[in-house]
Amino acid sequence: MTGRRGGAGPADRAQAIRDGDRRALARAVTLVESTRAEDRADAEALLAALRADAGGATRLGVSGPPGVGKSTFIEAFGLHLLDRGRRLAVLAIDPSSARGGGAILGDKTRMTELSRREAAFVRPSPSGGAPGGVARRTREAMLLCEAGGFDTIVVETVGTGQSEIAVRDMVDMFLLLAAPGGGDELQGIKRGIVEFADLVVVNKADGALAGPAAETLAHYRGALGLLRSPTPGWTPRVLACSALERRGLDEIRRAVGEFAGAAGAATARRRRDRALAWMWSEVRERLESRLRAAPAARARLAEIERRVADGRLDPPAAARALVEAFLGDSRDAG
Ligand code: GDP
Repeated sequence: MTGRRGGAGPADRAQAIRDGDRRALARAVTLVESTRAEDRADAEALLAALRADAGGATRLGVSGPPGVGKSTFIEAFGLHLLDRGRRLAVLAIDPSSARGGGAILGDKTRMTELSRREAAFVRPSPSGGAPGGVARRTREAMLLCEAGGFDTIVVETVGTGQSEIAVRDMVDMFLLLAAPGGGDELQGIKRGIVEFADLVVVNKADGALAGPAAETLAHYRGALGLLRSPTPGWTPRVLACSALERRGLDEIRRAVGEFAGAAGAATARRRRDRALAWMWSEVRERLESRLRAAPAARARLAEIERRVADGRLDPPAAARALVEAFLGDSRDAG
């Protein structure tokens, strides 16, 4: 079967991805990132063809403030996993590039050693696009990576608070990287993020930083003891490592493995909730774009938005008027 524009059809493309063709995977990720309507249809056909092949990977979120060592850690930890026969995909969510601002994650060459490995797939953060679309693209990219046979997927995000909640919902296990010294605020870790962590890793536990790292470890052990675990069945842990010297990585690997065993029920529930939440966010997105495009709603949109902005119209009343106008349109059309 050949598809539009002379390219391979979804069945061929799906097979190339299943066969482990990383270029086919990279092209597919670009396709799901595209906001063009015709690409969307192609992306959905491809995702549908691969759905049955997905869902088998361990999904690990890695977060932490800029400079904590995320890319150094993911490279070191990734190579450690590869040495043990795992296949690793790394996806990045960068809240700054979602808003069209400067990239926090994407503008330097990162994870060069990992990128060169056959058993790894490293995808830099997408630039531009609608903020709400970032989560969907990442979920879809994860699905593609799983179909491509990657058994571990790391979703990396900057710990600035905006993308953690989205990532927490997308992954099985959430790992927060911290650096030695100072409290959360000093480290740039936003309040509340520690509550999401299944595992806190104090990085840079080497050289002159080894002492401060031990203190920071104790600080987080104390702090986590006061919090409710984000994942039933699992008690959050705090470990230390040196990504630079590649020490402490095996303990982290073991904790990730133990998590999979202990939190199986919670992970299954999270995955079910995720599927439903995904469906509803798609419903909202689709309805909104249909509404924005519908003639009667569109005719009133600018005026209504202006009145809401000026405080002359309550947002709920405005929403009701728009939805009524849209439904009137749909009835006329149908
Ligand atoms: P990111 O912004 O969180 O991705 O951080 P990077 O991985 O780019 O690292 C920021 C800086 O911290 C770099 O200069 C790294 O060399 C350094 N770094 C990362 N991991 C370690 C570590 O384990 N020990 C020490 N001493 N430095 C590290």
